[in-house]
Amino acid sequence: MRTSRRILLYGGRLVLPDRLLEPGWVLIHGETIVEVSAAERLPSADERLDVSGYYVAPGMLDLHIHGSAGVDVLTATADDLHRWARFLLRHGVTRFLPTTVPTDPAQYARVRATLAEYVPEQERDPRAASVLGVHFEGPFVSPRRPGALNPRYFRTFRSLRDVEDLLAWDIPACLFIRMMTLAPEIEGGLALIEELRRRGFRLAIGHSEASFEICEAAAELGVTHVTHFPNALAPLHHRQPGVVGWALLDERATLDLIADGHHLDRRMVALVRKVVGMDRLALISDAIAATGLGDGRYEIWGETIRVVNGRTENAAGALAGSVITLRDAVRHLVQWGIPLPEAMRMATLMPARVLGVAETFGSLEPGKRADVLVLDEQLWPRLVLRDGEIIHLSEESPSQAGAPGPCGMPPISPPRGDG
Ligand SMILES: [Zn+2]
Repeated sequence: MRTSRRILLYGGRLVLPDRLLEPGWVLIHGETIVEVSAAERLPSADERLDVSGYYVAPGMLDLHIHGSAGVDVLTATADDLHRWARFLLRHGVTRFLPTTVPTDPAQYARVRATLAEYVPEQERDPRAASVLGVHFEGPFVSPRRPGALNPRYFRTFRSLRDVEDLLAWDIPACLFIRMMTLAPEIEGGLALIEELRRRGFRLAIGHSEASFEICEAAAELGVTHVTHFPNALAPLHHRQPGVVGWALLDERATLDLIADGHHLDRRMVALVRKVVGMDRLALISDAIAATGLGDGRYEIWGETIRVVNGRTENAAGALAGSVITLRDAVRHLVQWGIPLPEAMRMATLMPARVLGVAETFGSLEPGKRADVLVLDEQLWPRLVLRDGEIIHLSEESPSQAGAPGPCGMPPISPPRGDG
């Protein structure tokens, strides 16, 4: 049973989509944010938390993540999903889309069964990030741009039978987003897009060598997002602007980036940002199961993936996803000179928009879900609210939390002698 207490977080530095508001306060009623303000007079509340010295930010949404903490979505049990979701919450992610790589129909079916078992139960534990849906990366992608995906499982689209096993993934009584990254230029690509759009899928172009014209045709059908730009896309050519040229030029296009310092040179991030502006850029982690475990060799997706100095590599020498969390990505952007509100917005409001859930998630605004992070200077969450439920993280040992040691900031506590 959810409580409908009024919770006030005050004194903090509020990370709004376009600026910092300091000091400001956030009033939460039940699972909803009801007021965000810098007014001097504080409203009454059942619980008042002094968060002076901390950032207060919306929960992050990761729309492209394969695993973390030793868990991979393809082989996870429901307990594994739970462990993974707890890891993510401790890193400030409150909503995520487990993301599959191309595999055989039997394994897709196992993933579906596991999600169908886990998702309806997940709300019981507020200490875990919430699965918002599923993201299929492939299998309808280009064998010419596989990246670390296994082309053995790639498909083309001739009839509905080719996609049948991925259509029936609705989970009743839940908000359950189905997203797919595909290459529109493959055989039957545009027809597939029409079928998937009709069934409510969110679609993105990725692992693709699509021409500019095909991208425009896909955009007309409602495909306006591009996955891990410009990784696994045909590079920009001055006579063939292609998918990269289209993504930069078409105002409808939104792009997500892997800001792990390996997939993209930081000057490339600066260049893309200069061209498209902050209204079209989101962050993803593209994290794999090795995330949170450090350097080493890992058996993932039926092959050995090495992690050396935080860079992933499969046997063929290709980058194989990242080992960062969205928090790391935001930190990188800030280190590279991007203001915190903008970097944070790329991990919150922008992914919420890409997923079509920005009415509910992604910013500290009245009416939105109370997914709120209280972050220290290093952007480690010390307190998280998910659906308005308070979760104290500082009590956990750093090894449990996957966080560095105490950073010397004051504990978050209710003020003395105050109602
Ligand atoms: Zn991926």
